[in-house]
Amino acid sequence: MLNGKTALVTGSTSGIGLGIATTLAMHGARVMINGFGDVQGALAQVREHDSEAIYHGADMSKPAEVADMVRQCEAQLGACDILVNNAGIQHVALVEDFPAEKWDAIIAINLSSAFHAMRAALPGMKQRNWGRIVNLASVHGLVASASKSAYVAAKHGLVGLTKSAALENATTGVTVNAICPGWVLTPLVQKQVDARAAADGVDNEEAKRRLLAEKQPSLQFTTPAELAELVVFLCSPAAQNVRGVAWQVDGGWTAQ
Ligand code: NAD
Repeated sequence: MLNGKTALVTGSTSGIGLGIATTLAMHGARVMINGFGDVQGALAQVREHDSEAIYHGADMSKPAEVADMVRQCEAQLGACDILVNNAGIQHVALVEDFPAEKWDAIIAINLSSAFHAMRAALPGMKQRNWGRIVNLASVHGLVASASKSAYVAAKHGLVGLTKSAALENATTGVTVNAICPGWVLTPLVQKQVDARAAADGVDNEEAKRRLLAEKQPSLQFTTPAELAELVVFLCSPAAQNVRGVAWQVDGGWTAQ
């Protein structure tokens, strides 16, 4: 379905981003991945689907590197048709204990990087009159949890940025939407499971059960593959009039 299209997925060496990059490749897109850690392993996984996959090592906290990543995607793959702003980090602390540099890093990586990437990718998308921008926000773009002030602020900002850009492009072939997952079991969340296990003196399974029971009525984690299929739908012709949504995939979290 995505044959002939190109996709750039930020933060795609792990977790949700890797799932999205792999699924887009499975559907025929040529993909640029980004992020830290096991780059070769991630490239190998995305290439399993015989689609071209390349890598850019931009640090999402650095605006010039973000812009260069988009330029390189256009130069090396011919275009940036699909942009998935997924890179993100978390830090958990009360406001008064929150290190200022962690606040700055979370705002830069979880919010400002999406602005810088969209700013660089939109002119080409508008010129071709086709584009799909999908921003990985969170239920924390819609509701808050204690001790996640920077993350909640960044994700609320990302939902707002999504709506504004969707309106600016409403009469074009470029759509801009956000996805708002609840708990997804990735390395980002495993750290919170570990912290919960240590705090409550329980094992990994019990810590996962407690985290889910607190917020997610389905008592199940969403998987990266499930989120990736939603991205594929948002890239499909059937979604051409889905614009500016913040689409929960949260097991009922925000229905409460
Ligand atoms: P993860 O930790 O598994 O992956 C994060 C990715 O971002 C990695 O590839 C990492 O290398 C990359 N990254 C981190 N800092 C970067 C930087 N400065 N520059 C470039 N890349 C960087 O996390 P995940 O759970 O897959 O999260 C992906 C996105 O989904 C994030 O935006 C997160 O906020 C969001 N999200 C996650 C959950 C969840 O439950 N896991 C829920 C809602 C939203």
